[in-house]
Amino acid sequence: MTDTVLELRDVHVFYGNIEALKGISLEVRRGECVTLIGSNGAGKTTTLRAIAGLNRPRSGTISLEGRPIHSLPAHAIVALGVSQAPEGRHVFPAMSVRENLEMGAFTRKGSTSDDFDRIYSLFPVLSERAKQAAGTLSGGEQQMLAIGRALMAHPKVLLLDEPSLGVSPVLTQRIYETLRQINEQGTTILLVEQNANMALDLADRGYVLETGTIVLADATDTLRSSPDVRRAYLGES
Ligand code: ATP
Repeated sequence: MTDTVLELRDVHVFYGNIEALKGISLEVRRGECVTLIGSNGAGKTTTLRAIAGLNRPRSGTISLEGRPIHSLPAHAIVALGVSQAPEGRHVFPAMSVRENLEMGAFTRKGSTSDDFDRIYSLFPVLSERAKQAAGTLSGGEQQMLAIGRALMAHPKVLLLDEPSLGVSPVLTQRIYETLRQINEQGTTILLVEQNANMALDLADRGYVLETGTIVLADATDTLRSSPDVRRAYLGES
C-alpha cells in the first residue's frame, strides 16, 4: 500500500472567472502533520474545500490512498475517510455536545463508547459539558467540539481550517497541544493556518501558498529559518 494518504496534482479551482487555485500539488503521508500556510485570500480554505468535494477542480487530480476522489460527492469523500473541522466551526448549536459528537460517527457502524472516552480524555471540557447545547460553548470550546466530531469518524486524514481563528491565545495553545497528541496517536493531519508560528511548530512539513500558487515546500524547520517566511509570515522585519 502506498504511504501517501492524500495527493493533489496540478489542481485548478475557479470561482466564475477568478482562478483561486492555479495548479496546486501537495501530498500528505501516513502519520504526518502537514501545514498549509498563507495570508488572507491565498486559497487555503479553497484547497480544503476542493479536497472535501465542496469546490470541484476544473482540472487536476485529488487522490486518497491512490484512488481519485475529485469527482465524488462530498458525502462519499467523508465516508472514504476525509473529515474536516471547518473554519467557523459549524457545530449544531441546538444539539448537545454529545449529540454533536454522535453526528461525527454517522458514517460508522458499531459501538462508539471507546470513541467518546477518547474524545473526552483529549478534551475534558467536552465531558463536563456533554449535555449542554453546543451553541452555548465558547469559541474555543466549539473548536474543540468540531475537532472531536471530526475524529469520531476515524478519518484517514483530518483536515483542519484555522483552529486558532477567534480563539483566545490560552485556548489556542491548549488546542495545539491536543493536536500534537492526536497526531502522535496516529491521526494524519492537514492543517491550514494563518497563525504560521503555531502551525510550523506542530507540523512536520509545510507548504506556503500565495495567491493560488505554492511558492515554497519544505520541512518546517527549514521553512522557519527561511528569511522570506520569517518576514512574511512570522512577523519579523
Ligand atoms: P482566508 O484565510 O481569508 O479564508 P484563504 O487563504 O482561505 O483566506 P480562500 O478563502 O480560499 O483563501 O480564497 C481564495 C480566493 O478566492 C480569494 O481571492 C477569495 O476572494 C476568492 N473566493 C473565495 N471564495 C469565493 C467565492 N465563493 N466566490 C468568489 N470568490 C471567492
